[in-house]
Amino acid sequence: MKSLIVNNVSKSYKRKSALKDISFEVEKGELFGVIGPDGAGKSTLFRIMTTLILADKGEVKIEGYDVVKDYKKIRNIVGYMPGRFSLYQDLTVRENIEFFAAVFNTTVEENYHLVKDIYSQIEPFEKRKAGALSGGMKQKLALSCALIHKPEVLFLDEPTTGVDPISRKEFWNMLKNLQDKGITIIVSTPYMDEATLCNRIALINEGEFMDINTPQELIRKFPKKLYSVTSSNLTNLMKLLREDLNVESCFSFGHRVHVTLNDETKDEGYEEIEPSIEDYFMRLSKPQN
Ligand code: ADP
Repeated sequence: MKSLIVNNVSKSYKRKSALKDISFEVEKGELFGVIGPDGAGKSTLFRIMTTLILADKGEVKIEGYDVVKDYKKIRNIVGYMPGRFSLYQDLTVRENIEFFAAVFNTTVEENYHLVKDIYSQIEPFEKRKAGALSGGMKQKLALSCALIHKPEVLFLDEPTTGVDPISRKEFWNMLKNLQDKGITIIVSTPYMDEATLCNRIALINEGEFMDINTPQELIRKFPKKLYSVTSSNLTNLMKLLREDLNVESCFSFGHRVHVTLNDETKDEGYEEIEPSIEDYFMRLSKPQN
């Protein structure tokens, strides 16, 4: 059974094409990631899927309902945590969650069991204004608010952007627990390391899905041996690598450069490493060298 079906969706803002012919499906109970950098089109796609804006072309179905024809039904069965500004900063923690419950004709008590694991961590700060919470606490409150009406499908747009590493890890554990409760989760992130925590992912760049698969399968598809090289002068190293005819591709990764070779039988003395999702992403998104 499919929770989400997206067919040939395109969207432009004036002349800027933000999404180009996107198609994918998500199974019920799946944790699906949309992975890509800023400006790739993630938020546009999430706003279309949650009935907030209309696609120019294509169709989206959630639990069998159409986002255009059945938008009222869909708003009841989906939870949406937008990247920014989902909370009322001047309302307290308690007032925020009560507001979201009231909008959906329910109460915090009725669905408390769903948010208990998450909300209990911010409950000691119930009287604090949302605007005065830390990033990690805001994120927990926003997730509680997106869950309080017991959605079947949860859309989380960059929930971990700007959140510290420990809170990020905790957040992904919370998502796994929600998945265990049977909720289908579609989450976007620019952090490639979070990709491996999803059942399947789509790699999005410049409005296009470059590939969709399990993270393990995408890594396995990396077609070459990968090497890591470093130097105290990275600019010079990149220049030398670009001039080397045996270097097929070179991308800088922090203090190292990841390299593939045209002729892998020639031993260049480089350290061989396992490719990551980011290596695969870079390979798909940019021409070699
Ligand atoms: P992401 O969420 O991956 O950062 P977005 O969906 O926000 O990507 O943006 C995709 C592209 O569409 C970007 O080039 C962005 O500048 C553009 N865009 C987004 N929203 C608007 C808008 N309201 N008006 C014009 N251009 C927009």
